[in-house]
Amino acid sequence: MRLRFRGVTSRSGVLLRGPAGWGEFSPFEEYGPAYAARWLAAAREAACTPFPTPVRDRVPVNTTVPAVDPATAYDLVARSGCTTAKVKVGEAGQDLALDVERVAAVRDALGPTGALRVDANAAWDVETAVLAIGRLDTAAAGLEYVEQPCATLGEMAEVRSRVAVPLAADESVRTAEDPLRIAGLDAADVLVVKVQPLGGVVRALEVVDAAGLPAVVSSALETSVGLAAGVALAAALPELPYACGLGTATLLSADVTDQPLTPLDGHLEVRRVTPDRASLDQATPEPDVSMALLERLAAASAHLHT
Ligand SMILES: [Mg+2]
Repeated sequence: MRLRFRGVTSRSGVLLRGPAGWGEFSPFEEYGPAYAARWLAAAREAACTPFPTPVRDRVPVNTTVPAVDPATAYDLVARSGCTTAKVKVGEAGQDLALDVERVAAVRDALGPTGALRVDANAAWDVETAVLAIGRLDTAAAGLEYVEQPCATLGEMAEVRSRVAVPLAADESVRTAEDPLRIAGLDAADVLVVKVQPLGGVVRALEVVDAAGLPAVVSSALETSVGLAAGVALAAALPELPYACGLGTATLLSADVTDQPLTPLDGHLEVRRVTPDRASLDQATPEPDVSMALLERLAAASAHLHT
């Protein structure tokens, strides 16, 4: 990673090659075999089967603004070419005044027509969320939505009943059953969905359809190979009312291809990604990291077959 992002400083994974192309298996280090098995299912699907037929040929993406000072936030957005920005708020050790300044700077950079969303990553309790959302909505001159203000679905539902700004569920969407609970509890207006945790593009499409809520496809900080599966999902969704969180290749200091899936004019092309030898050689981890990855792949594979 170029910058520490949500506590992550490096990413590693295994690329699988199959008859349909390449797939990425890159579960975060803390995940055990049962959960990692879904990430493997997604990688195998990408390698072995064609992606669903796209209904669009490019996908709008947001630029992501970490918990930085207002001037840096302004520059990031102004240079991004994106008309939607997602701003990190509620960072540990920072107070609401800093969030307000950062959001106001991002609105300046976007101009009045840009879309501005914030992500609290479950930092707030209900009362803090209601207060913070009110202040940030004013500073933003209108928030598009607030992502995961609180940790639990009960808290999300209560906040949602008390604020007019739409809420998006991200951390609450980890299994295929979660979106149905979210919809049933009226806990969010928007679902953030990721291909690897949900077990593949086809499964994610089914999950979104069953929940009946608009979806924002986001990455799990994959290389361009993994991002291509997210783009395939976003391209196949019948409705795509919001920009997606797939413009994250720019957060990586190295990629597995010399043609990375990076945004152009705020959009990603819908295409497969093929790694190239030179990029792979540069990105190959140390032998101990590689061995650990292969052991995790074997454990996930064993779990998939039980
Ligand atoms: Mg999020």
